Amino acid sequence: MSISGKGLLLVVSGPAGSGKGTVLKCLMEKNDDFVYSVSATTRAPRPGEVNGVNYHYISTEEFEERIKNGGMLEYTRYCENYYGTPKKEAEEVLHSGKNLILEIEVEGAENVKRLYPDAVLIMLLPPSFSVQESRLRGRGTESEEVILKRLERTREELKRLGSYDYVVYNRDGGAEMTADDIISIVRAEKLRLLRSPDAAKKYFE
Ligand code: 5GP
Repeated sequence: MSISGKGLLLVVSGPAGSGKGTVLKCLMEKNDDFVYSVSATTRAPRPGEVNGVNYHYISTEEFEERIKNGGMLEYTRYCENYYGTPKKEAEEVLHSGKNLILEIEVEGAENVKRLYPDAVLIMLLPPSFSVQESRLRGRGTESEEVILKRLERTREELKRLGSYDYVVYNRDGGAEMTADDIISIVRAEKLRLLRSPDAAKKYFE
């Protein structure tokens, strides 16, 4: 399926502690052309997370059933849990002309790019690995074991940074500036000629 002339399919990845949640919340508040894709996951909700808002929390059996039925646009296993993008909702948003944001990890991002080559892939990073580490410990929502797994996963993921179109840094207290960076990317991407190959023809109509 091509998404030319429609809403942009935007993939935002970022290691644990990159501040994805805060930045994307800020982005949605600033601009209502974006719709956040609520993923399904088998991991347990963190304190404060709401079913249907942050994720659809489902069992492993249900997740595997949905994979079998073709209900996932993409999915992956991350730190022993399944995460996936529900296909039907994603297609509905893209057809409506809104920009769809997938907040997913690297493997999912690469799969999306293969399926939808005109998707735009953004990697959101903390200013440095040591800032990431202190943010993760500071939020205190994960055990030491989980923190170490996530830091290790970051090293693996950044080996595949080359799959991305953009890297955006999220400084402490800078969520609004970071959201503006993403809005700038989307504005520029929408003006790319490859998204309107018949621009000259249309101009003379
Ligand atoms: P967390 O447990 O911190 O919410 O998410 C762990 C990782 O899974 C993050 O990198 C997040 O972006 C990624 N993720 C969340 N939803 C999806 C999804 O639907 N598909 C894929 N491939 N990754 C996801």
